[in-house]
Amino acid sequence: MTKSELKIADAIREVTAAVQKAIDEGYRSRAIDADDLVEVLLSIADRLDPQVAERVAAGDACPNCGERDADKLVWETDEETVRCASCGEAYSPGG
Ligand SMILES: [Zn+2]
Repeated sequence: MTKSELKIADAIREVTAAVQKAIDEGYRSRAIDADDLVEVLLSIADRLDPQVAERVAAGDACPNCGERDADKLVWETDEETVRCASCGEAYSPGG
């Protein structure tokens, strides 16, 4: 399994555990309807969403190698330049 597949599996397990707890404590009925299904699917999407948000906009990607992972694009101390950890390129995002 890839890292992202494991994240999806974890998100499904966490949401399933939360739903199971709600059923056990009587907050949620055992009879599932369409609204319940939509709510569960959106809960899973919400847990996965931050992973997507960690990517910078296409216009701010590394001009040399195209890196968009925010964790690999580090602001320099001048606060105008970003250094790409993947290839070492320094550039001004959006400029
Ligand atoms: Zn780069």
